[in-house]
Amino acid sequence: MTDKISKCCTCGYEWQTGQHGGHSCADKLSTRISALESNFSQITENMAHILLNNISLKDTDLFKEMLKLKNSIYEYNTKL
Ligand SMILES: [Zn+2]
Repeated sequence: MTDKISKCCTCGYEWQTGQHGGHSCADKLSTRISALESNFSQITENMAHILLNNISLKDTDLFKEMLKLKNSIYEYNTKL
């Protein structure tokens, strides 16, 4: 008896080695994409919130870096 885990390197699906590992990568990938999309939206919202509430940091490098990050996440979201 072994409890080694096999993993699909395309979609990340895991199953017990030796067991039937049949699955649809497309299904798993679309589930992962949905999860990533909602994570990204959440991060963007949180960042916007932080930036709006810390407007006094506006001229600091931290603020500029966060703004850059927020914009690149936003661009990524709109390209999907
Ligand atoms: Zn797969």
